[in-house]
Amino acid sequence: MNRIVRHSSRIELSQAAIKANFGFIRKKVGEGPVISSVVKANAYGHGIETFVPMAEKAGVRHFSTASAHEAEEVLHSRTKKSDIMIMGILYGEDLSWAIENGIEFYVFDFERLEAALKVAKELNTPAKVHLEAETGTNRTGMLEAEFNKCLTLVKKNKDHLHCYGICSHLGGAESLSNQFKIDQQKQRFKEFLKLGKAKGITPKYRHLACSAAALAMPDTVYDMVRVGVAQYGFWPSPDIYFMHLQDVDKGKDNPMRRVISWKTDVMAIKHVKKGEFIGYGTSYQALRDMEVAVIPLGYCNGYARGLSNRGHVLIKGKKAPIVGLVNMNLFMVDITHIKGVEPGEEVVLIGRQGNNSITVSSFSDTSNLLNNEMISRLPAAIPRYPVR
Ligand SMILES: *Cc1c(COP(=O)(O)O)cnc(C)c1O
Repeated sequence: MNRIVRHSSRIELSQAAIKANFGFIRKKVGEGPVISSVVKANAYGHGIETFVPMAEKAGVRHFSTASAHEAEEVLHSRTKKSDIMIMGILYGEDLSWAIENGIEFYVFDFERLEAALKVAKELNTPAKVHLEAETGTNRTGMLEAEFNKCLTLVKKNKDHLHCYGICSHLGGAESLSNQFKIDQQKQRFKEFLKLGKAKGITPKYRHLACSAAALAMPDTVYDMVRVGVAQYGFWPSPDIYFMHLQDVDKGKDNPMRRVISWKTDVMAIKHVKKGEFIGYGTSYQALRDMEVAVIPLGYCNGYARGLSNRGHVLIKGKKAPIVGLVNMNLFMVDITHIKGVEPGEEVVLIGRQGNNSITVSSFSDTSNLLNNEMISRLPAAIPRYPVR
């Protein structure tokens, strides 16, 4: 729907940052492998509709999603003939949609492959399947016996089943403390590739690496890497960042650039007398006369309630601390120290303003998992805009 009335906040995506991040990832993985841009969770909150054409401008021609529902959005957002791959949920009733649209999808059980074969025959259109191996994440993926059954079925039905991939997923490549497990997974993956070879099946892509592996473990990089968090400018973890620093032999070097900025405007300004409480309850009492700005969004817009009395925003390039609780659709910040603020003044929730910036990790410590959780929950309803 094309809306006329403004939303209470906006997200901007930087084309230059996207270009820089893909440039950096390309340098790490070399010229050979296809970089599949993982845009599950609405492109980690960046917004599929806006992000996909921007990634295409940076040269991306392959996208991965967790669900068919997301794949449909990529299909309608792409501006080139980019390939689309579903790594997760695809209901049986949507198989014909996927096959008709040339969408690649994971197969993690034999029944799914049989179903795909049936539909491919009916449509007289080949199914593009990726056979997923269980190497130790114990999420989806097939053990040897079932995997072999699939290989046999593919071999017998080469006109209808096109083997686009043999793949697996590393469970926790971002943490050095998991190395023994990751090493085992790498080894097991090689065994599955051998099974394919033994049956004479050469997939278009062998793929194992996520961001952390693509950036730090060259021996996980085959014909394709599936890159999520790194393309948005976040290091998968401090471990991977330190490994990069060792690699380039520098004490400081961060070629990755944050893509997302999140902005709103001051809705109202309040003078609060010393001794008064701000917002619900008594969690914040003014210890002096204060100038307070009301911000028109809250936890229903993905702004974490946990930031109550802790987070801050940027106004006129200065930090304005949150005072009181983050409400469902409002919160208040202290602007006593910032002169000349009027309603309508730009407020930066995430991003840069003047010489200051607010990072996603400042909300959620340095844990990548929490970064992912925070950004991927940004509501789809917030409008996204490309910027330079
Ligand atoms: C999410 C996901 C990725 C991308 O992971 P990042 O760590 O964000 O790069 C790759 N492969 C699969 C199967 C995934 O689910």
